[in-house]
Amino acid sequence: MALIVQKFGGTSVGDPEKIKQVAQRVLKKKKEGNQMVVVLSAMSGETNRLTEFAMQMQEIPDLREMDVLLSSGEQVTVSLFAMAVKAYGDDCISYLGDQVKILTDSSHTKARIEFIDTEKITSALGEGKIVVVAGFQGVDSDGNITTLGRGGSDTTAVALAAALQADACEIFTDVEGVYTTDPNICNKAKKIDRISYDEMLELASLGAKVLDIRSVTFAKQYKVPIHVRSTFTETEGTWVVEEDEEMEGRIVSGVTYNKNEARITISGVPDQPGIAAKIFTPISDADIIVDMIIQNQDTGNGLTDMTFTVLRSDYQRTMQLLNSITEKTGANGGIHGSDSITKISIVGVGMRNHSGIASTMFSVLSNEGINISMISTSEIKVSCIIEEKYTELAIRALHDAFELDKDTVPEEESII
Ligand code: ADP
Ligand code: ASP
Ligand code: MG
Repeated sequence: MALIVQKFGGTSVGDPEKIKQVAQRVLKKKKEGNQMVVVLSAMSGETNRLTEFAMQMQEIPDLREMDVLLSSGEQVTVSLFAMAVKAYGDDCISYLGDQVKILTDSSHTKARIEFIDTEKITSALGEGKIVVVAGFQGVDSDGNITTLGRGGSDTTAVALAAALQADACEIFTDVEGVYTTDPNICNKAKKIDRISYDEMLELASLGAKVLDIRSVTFAKQYKVPIHVRSTFTETEGTWVVEEDEEMEGRIVSGVTYNKNEARITISGVPDQPGIAAKIFTPISDADIIVDMIIQNQDTGNGLTDMTFTVLRSDYQRTMQLLNSITEKTGANGGIHGSDSITKISIVGVGMRNHSGIASTMFSVLSNEGINISMISTSEIKVSCIIEEKYTELAIRALHDAFELDKDTVPEEESII
């Protein structure tokens, strides 16, 4: 008897009718002789709707209360799912994060899972029940409800699969797998059959929200193969697994974008030891994650500019914080920024062994008249910050230039 963890995202459980269909799909799998643990997201749009309510209460909502609010979305779907299963004559029990106990740290709205108590789930499975767990939520050691950050239900699913030593972890969503780019933006996007954990980590961290990055981190750490597939078809999806030789044959595997960041520049910062710590320590103390950082060369007057990106949701908070520490940093050129930027990236393990990929990317963007304001690279990715309005254009141009709609080209025919 196999133990299978299946996660269904927001669109898959978007209304009561869809929840019934998901229940039937899970029941079918159980009848084939499997033990079923199901993880559900909130109905699509619900987490956004709740966030908007919060904004009407407080300009910067209290993070603890935000978690109490946001976790309610998943409470609705798991209870309805359990009722649906019972109506079909089988047995099911729903658990919230704190009931399971999915223990997290206390970092509200972006908590990290520290431990999962599997006892209740295992004993309910032993009684022949389907277990449905609310995704995206946990509880800290003081009993406060926490949430794992947007898209966090994927992480709940993979972490549960690891903790339960499940035989399979299937992530059901509204597309048929992981594509070379967002299929909702580029109609030439092609489904990838197998992708390595490392490539998926980069794609996810750079904006391909089809999988939450922390779910891939868990999968890699605990060697959980993930099958990403469609809720609405039986088609084989994408396997996220350990790297193999075939994957190295692809130079660029995917193009991705992230509109969740904002860029901030502090001008006229004294170019002296300790300045980066003076700016970034208060930011990290406020639990704000900084992504790309660029410090310009001192142009001769002892002053420099510091530009970096933060999550768009942290933009206002970061600006307020920086204004309050201006005196300490001695910056005299003002603080300015933009929250209408996009980070556009190309990813591929094959980049390790090929040169010229970054310059091709820069040429493609320049040929489209798109200005690059920041660049960062790693072994298997190149990212550029551009104006948000050029996102779709940039994606299509890069997808075409790297011929991602074609089957992998042999190296000698490669475009680079
Ligand atoms: P769920 O609600 O099921 O968790 P998400 O909306 O979080 O679904 O993720 C699925 C969406 O991810 C797709 O509808 C698609 O628009 C988007 N997406 C972005 N990049 C990719 C990609 N490279 N491959 C597949 N989907 C992608
Ligand atoms: N409901 C949460 C969100 O919309 C978590 C998830 O769907 O994975 O981000
Ligand atoms: Mg998601």
